Amino acid sequence: MRSKLVVGNWKLHGSLAANEALLGSLIRDIPGNEPAACAVCVPHPYLAQVQGLLQGTPIGWGGQDVSRFEQGAYTGEVSARMLVEFGCRYAIVGHSERRTLFGDTDTIVVEKFAAARRSGLTPIFCVGETLAERESGATEKVLERQVSALTAKCGAQEVAGGVIAYEPVWAIGTGRTATSQQAEEAHAFIRGLVASQDGRVAGDIRILYGGSVKAANAAELFAMPDVDGGLVGGASLVAEEFAAIWRAAT
Ligand code: PEP
Repeated sequence: MRSKLVVGNWKLHGSLAANEALLGSLIRDIPGNEPAACAVCVPHPYLAQVQGLLQGTPIGWGGQDVSRFEQGAYTGEVSARMLVEFGCRYAIVGHSERRTLFGDTDTIVVEKFAAARRSGLTPIFCVGETLAERESGATEKVLERQVSALTAKCGAQEVAGGVIAYEPVWAIGTGRTATSQQAEEAHAFIRGLVASQDGRVAGDIRILYGGSVKAANAAELFAMPDVDGGLVGGASLVAEEFAAIWRAAT
């Protein structure tokens, strides 16, 4: 049985003072021993602060990206080992903003996934179609390309150590959420793609939905059989809203 997971993606937001207030509220609102896990993925400079505040709480944390390289002359990169040194459990890879704005190709994203796994992190592997792709009926083709890039390069055991996030690009930061049926269809399709590599891994791997998740739509999305939680952007910056989304998963 897969347990639910709700992850906040702070993107390029935060300050020392705002983070402290946000995490202080979440620590009060998110108790331990609950069936659903919770984590936040924060800008790298705040990892030490977040580690200090969240250590010993049920809330995990991670980076929003990770280098595919382990070390070397790669200015601006942050390695998986560095994330681990700051207590990270997760690293998002292949977020659509990285794919579209920073040139992360399928190949690069899979290399980042593999680098994260080598250091013992749980990569959150993001996939999803643009609006034009959905409207032209290419959703499954896009998902197949993105997921098979992963399964072709990484063995089943490596894939099993990750989480997949289905994030339709047209729903990210737009206020336009996929219906629960659209989400379920895409999640079941993705699970089927993983099953063609390994049925057991497909049954166990968590597939999160991301794209304008709010307290008002979370319960319906999370009730779908193949939706194992959410990756939450904007709403993760508001403590009460994010805690309510997490509660919808418990
Ligand atoms: C995201 O950044 O992964 C995301 C889903 O953003 P939002 O919830 O704001 O749509």
